[in-house]
Amino acid sequence: MKAETIDWSQLPFSYMPLPSRYEAVFQNGCWQEKGLITETEIRLSESAAVLQYAQSCFEGLKAYSTRDGQVVTFRPELNAQRMIDTCRRLVMPEISIEMFVSAVDAVIRDNAAFIPPYGSGATLYLRPFMIGTNPVLGVRSADEFLFRVFATPVGPYFKGGVKPITLTVSDFDRAAPRGTGHVKGGLNYAMSLYAGHQAKAQGYAENMYLDAATQSKVEETGGANVFFITSDGKFVTPDSHTILPSITRRSLVTVAADYLGMQVEEREVYLSELPSFLECGLCGTAAIITPVGAIHDHGKMIEFPSGMEKPGPVCLKLYDTLLGIQTGQVAAPEGWLHRVL
Ligand SMILES: *Cc1c(COP(=O)(O)O)cnc(C)c1O
Repeated sequence: MKAETIDWSQLPFSYMPLPSRYEAVFQNGCWQEKGLITETEIRLSESAAVLQYAQSCFEGLKAYSTRDGQVVTFRPELNAQRMIDTCRRLVMPEISIEMFVSAVDAVIRDNAAFIPPYGSGATLYLRPFMIGTNPVLGVRSADEFLFRVFATPVGPYFKGGVKPITLTVSDFDRAAPRGTGHVKGGLNYAMSLYAGHQAKAQGYAENMYLDAATQSKVEETGGANVFFITSDGKFVTPDSHTILPSITRRSLVTVAADYLGMQVEEREVYLSELPSFLECGLCGTAAIITPVGAIHDHGKMIEFPSGMEKPGPVCLKLYDTLLGIQTGQVAAPEGWLHRVL
């Protein structure tokens, strides 16, 4: 794929191999950096820990072209720290924050021709991940690991005016109270595929998962955190140990409070209070905010006043402000943008 031939406005959210990626391997208790490589494939033992027992984790972040011609990543040290937390939980070796951030930087710089231009809506998506590579047969952790970072340009999620989506309250659990819901392991996605498939077969965009213990509180969807806007203009988002700590959600909390002057509540959110909210949005790196127009709950439909035609006004303001910060149109809080080029 030649960069010059890409129509940035038509890019899907899918994998396109770029010229180089970064690799490091963990052997005999330490990381060896291979640096930038061109090989897209990974050769593995058929009994590798990742294949037999799903010992894998990942991160996702983006490089943005800013208005004044820079290329930046957004709070990448939070992705690095989250990967460290995930690695601890999955008995995988930690990557230092410095090694993580410099690996991401190196991949962006070496594939600079594929960074979508400012204003195209497209971005360069970075996927750092780690897998256990040596053969295991009895259940145990690997002791050799591979860390890679690849990049792929992805299209704007808000293609041609975004339409709100409809969620359905799931009868499956995403995360156990003392499980792994708070870490970014591939395992959380493998077990969500069936539930996601069921939701889509019934015509819903995504599942809304409840807390496993009481089935009364809303947690998040399969791959995005959730927030609500109250009738008195507060930003409300669930506080739970079993949701994934989204960097977008943590940033929106600051945007709502410091940029839009809203009151913010991070607290338990009951399914029963959803009908009182004005707006609902999903948040994550891929789309920033996906507006939710309705949530199906066992035969009843909870319809938000913002409706199914367009995003609610507060969702739009949050989206515009955060995207503005990421692309240099709105002044960023100290330390939020990491300059790469
Ligand atoms: C990655 C992820 C998110 C979004 O996190 P961001 O840091 O905002 O991209 C939300 N929920 C789950 C389950 C995730 O895996």
